Amino acid sequence: MEKLRTVRGVHDLLPQELQQHNIVIKTGMEISEKYSYSQIETPIFEFAEVFTKPLGKSSDIVTKENYIFKDRSNDELMLRPEGTSGVVRAFLNAGLVQNLPQRFSYYGPMFRYERPQKGRLRQFKQLGIECLGLSSAMADIEVISLGHEFLDKLKILDKIELKINTLGDSESRSKYRNVLINYLTSYQSKLSRESLNRLMINPLRVLDSKNEEDQKIVEHAPNILDYLNSDSKRRFENICKGLDYLNINYTIDKNLVRGLDYYCHTAFEFTTNELGSQGTLLAGGRYDGLSKILGGTDTPGVGWAAGVERLALMVQSEFVNKTDVVLMGQSENFNYLLLPIMKKLVQKGLRSEIIYTGNFSKKLKRANKINASYAIILGEEEINQNMIKFKDLSSGKEKLLNLDQAIKKITK
Ligand code: ATP
Ligand code: MG
Repeated sequence: MEKLRTVRGVHDLLPQELQQHNIVIKTGMEISEKYSYSQIETPIFEFAEVFTKPLGKSSDIVTKENYIFKDRSNDELMLRPEGTSGVVRAFLNAGLVQNLPQRFSYYGPMFRYERPQKGRLRQFKQLGIECLGLSSAMADIEVISLGHEFLDKLKILDKIELKINTLGDSESRSKYRNVLINYLTSYQSKLSRESLNRLMINPLRVLDSKNEEDQKIVEHAPNILDYLNSDSKRRFENICKGLDYLNINYTIDKNLVRGLDYYCHTAFEFTTNELGSQGTLLAGGRYDGLSKILGGTDTPGVGWAAGVERLALMVQSEFVNKTDVVLMGQSENFNYLLLPIMKKLVQKGLRSEIIYTGNFSKKLKRANKINASYAIILGEEEINQNMIKFKDLSSGKEKLLNLDQAIKKITK
């Protein structure tokens, strides 16, 4: 029979790769916690509108990348493509608007029907933070600084660049939008089909095009910074000032946008050149309009999400899979007696394995293969003396000891 496979773009995580993911997740969640962000978990699937309403009918995620399905009650559900909408919905449902600000962190699987490649999957994990209820520029600085600290803790900052931009408030943005439409329309015949589409629906997203010809056109596009009203301009300057205070290096990228309408002011990305075209590791921005779209009160928000797979590809770590002690009996009859010994070793925090079968040399081979440091060997002779044979597997030295003495030797 043919072997069953996983779905395209959806992978198993074997221990070694999962360990890399877990390092990323642990580091991110710990640093978030220190910045007073508390972990939240929202469902992996929700009513589709939780995601489609904010994202809008024209976004890639809704048009091309969605996992929308009907369940048996004919409800339209969606596997979550991102974390922010769910977190804000949960925050509204729980009535937490009464108690602002609220700071959340999360991690978990997201789902997008994309063309799979390295660093781009159909099921992938994001780790993110959301800061709700603060409209001050200080909150933007805080979340960027937390992202920066996270990447620093992962020891990958030297391979990463921070790009920031502002989308201004809606007044500035609509002024800029008109100028941009005029500019892009004059290049209509040269733009890719996708960008032409975007030009009609959401012109700012053309700035985000990955098409090389588009990028050439966009390079000389009008700069949003020239169209900011004084409030928006001052706000952006304050953010730059905060980053300077923290000695965080950044470049201003006038074409960095977040495509969705509820985004405003700050947009930022931490990117790398090391992962080909999948170089965005952590991306975020301010989304003051989101809460209202989800039916709540007008609550400002700012946050980011990082791709766990992409970060894991950047993190170098040795796979730790070392067994402290193996236990082996002279014959299989001794296995029962090894059980309580193993229990005690585990209680002492030692990683242990009983090697149940095989002759002595086979058992030693297994011990070697799993990188065990010590062996506890039990035979007739040891039992008669109420002792165990303790073997240091690196030196090969053996000794008769009682169990407590052996544990002392291993833990010292
Ligand atoms: P991209 O431009 O790479 O498609 P995006 O703008 O769609 O990214 P966001 O929605 O901002 O990405 O998600 C935040 C982060 O999540 C990305 O920077 C990336 O690290 C990660 N990410 C997004 N989509 C995927 C995916 N399909 N597979 C793996 N990681 C992803
Ligand atoms: Mg994408």
